[in-house]
Formats: sequence, C-alpha cells, structure tokens
Amino acid sequence: MAPIGRICKEDILESQSSFAKYDISTGSAEIKTAPPSKGIITNGGKPGMPSTSGVHELLECPVCMSSMFPPIHQCPNGHTLCSNCKARVHNCCPTCRYELGNIRCLALEKVAESLELPCRYQSLGCHDIFPYYSKLKHEQHCRFRPYDCPYAGSECSVSGDIPLLVSHLKDDHKVDMHDGCTFNHRYVKSNPQEVENATWMLTVFNCFGRQFCLHFEAFQLGMAPVYMAFLRFMGDDDEAKKFCYSLEVGANGRKLTWQGVPRSIRDSHRKVRDSQDGLIIQRNMALFFSGGDRQELKLRVTGRIWKEQ
Ligand SMILES: [Zn+2]
Ligand SMILES: [Zn+2]
Ligand SMILES: [Zn+2]
Ligand SMILES: [Zn+2]
Repeated sequence: MAPIGRICKEDILESQSSFAKYDISTGSAEIKTAPPSKGIITNGGKPGMPSTSGVHELLECPVCMSSMFPPIHQCPNGHTLCSNCKARVHNCCPTCRYELGNIRCLALEKVAESLELPCRYQSLGCHDIFPYYSKLKHEQHCRFRPYDCPYAGSECSVSGDIPLLVSHLKDDHKVDMHDGCTFNHRYVKSNPQEVENATWMLTVFNCFGRQFCLHFEAFQLGMAPVYMAFLRFMGDDDEAKKFCYSLEVGANGRKLTWQGVPRSIRDSHRKVRDSQDGLIIQRNMALFFSGGDRQELKLRVTGRIWKEQ
C-alpha cells in the first residue's frame, strides 16, 4: 500500500495552491490509508484539476444519459438533470426523491460553456474540436457521421461508413454488385397489375472507385401507376454532384431516356422517389415496352455513369 500512499501525498502537495483546505491531511507521510479525495486525483487529468472527461460526465444527465444543455436543473440537494427529464419526473428528484422546484444550475451551464470537445465522430475521421454548445449542431451535419443503410423496402437500422455499408449490403441484403460504369439490367414481374409500392432488388455499381445504388420501384403517382429508376451515390452530396448518369428504356423503336445527377444516400430513397428525380415510366408504356400480352413486365434498363469534368 505504500506506493499508493505516496502518490496520494505528492498529488495533494502539488495541488496545495488550488485546494488549500486539504493541506491539513498532508501533514505526515504516515497517513497512508486516507483515500484520495475526489477531484484531486483524476485519471489522465492534471493533478488538482478535474479531467475534461470528468467534467463531461458531470454534463451527462444522470437520468437519460444524454448531454445536458441549458437550462440545466438541480434539486435543492444539488442533483442535476436535463430539461427533458425535468419535464417528465413530476417535480420529484429522481436521485433523492426530494421536491425538485425550479432551480437552475448556472454554474454547470457556465462550465459547459468553457469546454471544448472533439466531435463524437472522431473515430470515423473527424478531428475538429468544438465549444460544448455548438458540438451538437456540428454533429448533425458532420461529414463523417455514419450513413444509414441505403437498402429500400425493409426497415434496416444499420448505419456506418461506406465500406461497412457495402459489405453489409452484400452480406445481409444479398445485393447484386457490379463493376463498371455501364449497365444493362432486366426487371421482370408477372402480373404487373398487382404491383404497387414494390421495391426491386437494389443493385450496387462499383465505378471510379465509388459505389452507386440503382433503385427501381413501382408506385402510384397521383392516379397513375408508374415505375421509376434512379441512382443514388454512396457518399456526400458535394461528391455526388461530380457525377452524371443516364438511363434508357424502350422497345419497338420507342425509347425513354433520362439524364440526371445521382443523389447522395443522405437523402432517403423515399425522398428521391417523391421528388421524381429519376426515370419515370407510366405503366402503360412499361407494358408496351415489355411486349407480349401485357401480362408480364419485362423491362430492360440500360445506363451509364460518368464523371463531370
Ligand atoms: Zn435527462
Ligand atoms: Zn436530489
Ligand atoms: Zn465532426
Ligand atoms: Zn441494411
């Protein structure tokens, strides 16, 4: 136990100036078992100074564990909680059951103001540091924030960076992967009259070292049943804009073509669909392109992706 006792003593001595009232306990090296006082010895922080992570813990609402923002409340015994939780606990401190009242914890709000913290997506590559109160806003738009799984037609809660999502699409959704910047895709469906709000298997294209999702779906546009094909880019919008794509569908000497700019997967596939930013084929036309007796949908969609100079 001797080394521990010594560490306590040294740290306490070093912090004499800022914590003068603890001097009494440092009079003799014989006091070996006195537990170090909280706030004097902290992990990783400077002796005598609470570490930033310690302060950060103080700013975590003890009830919901999320970061607290003004107004931060406290009970008459000093237990803090966030304003969301305050509204839910019926004026009763969740920690000591004391009547909560309406006490702001201005000191903690001020401490928060003085903090600078790394973005929560540091491990994903963001190295920016932010004042506590603007960190949250940044994180909502941080370009390193994880992407949601672009697979449509099922509720999927997976999120992550692009390489993770690419393997997730391949392994868990069994998505077709294609290399190259041109494609030629067939969509076949028997009894197309029944198709509504259907999502076909997503296809992922790998070109220019990036990935693109080709969506094809059936839905009701106003009164008219339509099919729609569009491309989304697996990355942010500013990069998506550097690409162009074209889609073509037709038969018997007629064809429809579409030229567009892929949308970032930050935009949900539903949002892109509803903005009609893609190749839209009326069902009648689709059945005409399918040939046969209109009992089967058989569309061949060709396309190309290129980089704008
Ligand atoms: Zn809370
Ligand atoms: Zn309390
Ligand atoms: Zn960030
Ligand atoms: Zn998924």
